[in-house]
Amino acid sequence: MNLNNISNPMTGKEAANQEKLQVLILGSGPAGLSAALYAARADLSPVVLSGVELGGQVSLTYVVENYPGFPEGIGGMEMVDLFQKQAERFGARVEYDSAAEVDLSERPFRVTTLNGKSYLADSLIIATGASAIHLNIPGETEFTGRGVSYCATCDGWFFKDKEVLVVGGGDSAVEEGLFLTRYADTVTIVHRRDELRAGAILAERAQNNPKIRFLWNSVVKAVDGNGVVQSVRLVDTLSGEEKVKETDGVFIFIGHSPNTAIFQGQLEMDEAGYIKIDHLMRTSVPGVFAAGEVADPHFRQVITSAGMGAAAAMQAGHFLDEHGAQ
Ligand code: NAP
Repeated sequence: MNLNNISNPMTGKEAANQEKLQVLILGSGPAGLSAALYAARADLSPVVLSGVELGGQVSLTYVVENYPGFPEGIGGMEMVDLFQKQAERFGARVEYDSAAEVDLSERPFRVTTLNGKSYLADSLIIATGASAIHLNIPGETEFTGRGVSYCATCDGWFFKDKEVLVVGGGDSAVEEGLFLTRYADTVTIVHRRDELRAGAILAERAQNNPKIRFLWNSVVKAVDGNGVVQSVRLVDTLSGEEKVKETDGVFIFIGHSPNTAIFQGQLEMDEAGYIKIDHLMRTSVPGVFAAGEVADPHFRQVITSAGMGAAAAMQAGHFLDEHGAQ
C-alpha cells in the first residue's frame, strides 16, 4: 500500500481542476472540429482544446476555394466559426487552452493543459496540425514581426505600396503571394528551382499577375535591416553568386512540420515526426486516434483533414463501445 497516496489525497482545488471525459480532442482545425461534430452527434460530449490558434492554419487563410458547398469560396475565419458553431450545436465544448503534457501509458489518458487543468479521457483524438517551417537563417528570428512573416493574411496590410519577397514555390507560397498583391506594389517569389511546385491553376494566376515577379534558382541566405527588414542576401543556386536585394518584407512559405513534440516517445511516428496511423485513424496506442495534418504529410487539405476528423470520431465511438470507460 502506498501511504503517500493516503496521506496526500487530492485537494479540493485539484479535484475541481480535473475532469473525466469520454472523448478529448486536441486541436481545433478542420480535423478537430469535424471530430467534435461527429463525437457530439454520437452523444459522447467531447471537449476540444483549441490549441494556440483557434481553427489552426485555416483561420489564417484569407479564402478557401476548394471546399465543397461554397461555390464562391469562404473566408478561413468564417469557416472555422461555422465549424465550431455546428459542433457546439450538438453539445461539443471548445476550451481555449492547449495540452502541455500527456500520459498515454494507461487509460484513461491524462492530459494536463497550459491553464493548469487536468483531463482524464477514455479516448483521445489528436488533431494538433502542423506549423510553418523556418528557414533558420541569420536575421530571420530577429526580424520576425518586423518584416519577416509566415502569414500573409495576418501581416499583408502592413505592406501597402511596399515591395515584398515570398520564399517558396509550393501552393502556399503562390497563394499567399497572390494575396499580398492586394497590398504590395510588387511581390517577388524567390524559389530555389526554376519551376514551381504549386498546382497549375495557382501557377497560371501568378504568372498572369502583373505585380508578381519570379526570382528562380535563388535562396535567401540572410535577412538584414535596422530595426525593420531592409534587404536580403541571396545566393544563386546554379552559379553560387551572392547578391543583396532591397525589400520591405520577407514572407516565408516553405512547408510545415507536425505539432507532435508532446507525444514523442509515446506514439509511433515517422522520421519527420508525423504520427503513424492506420486506415482507421488508429495510432500505436489503442484508444488514441489522430487526424488531419499531424498525421498526414501528403494531402493536407481542409476537406481531407475534416474527413479524417470525422473518421477518427467514429472510430473513437466504436472503441468506447467495445472497451468501455476506465
Ligand atoms: P510544399 O508543397 O511542401 O512546398 C514547399 C516549397 O518550399 C517548395 O517549393 C520547396 O521547394 C520550398 N522549400 C522547402 N524548403 C526550402 C528551403 N529550406 N529553402 C527554400 N525553399 C524551400 O508546402 P506548401 O506550399 O506549404 O503546401 C503544403 C501542402 O498544402 C501541399 O500539399 C499543398 O498542395 C497544400 N496546399 C494547398 C493549397 C490549395 O490547394 N489552395 C494551398 C496551400 C497549401 P521545392 O519545390 O524545390 O521542393
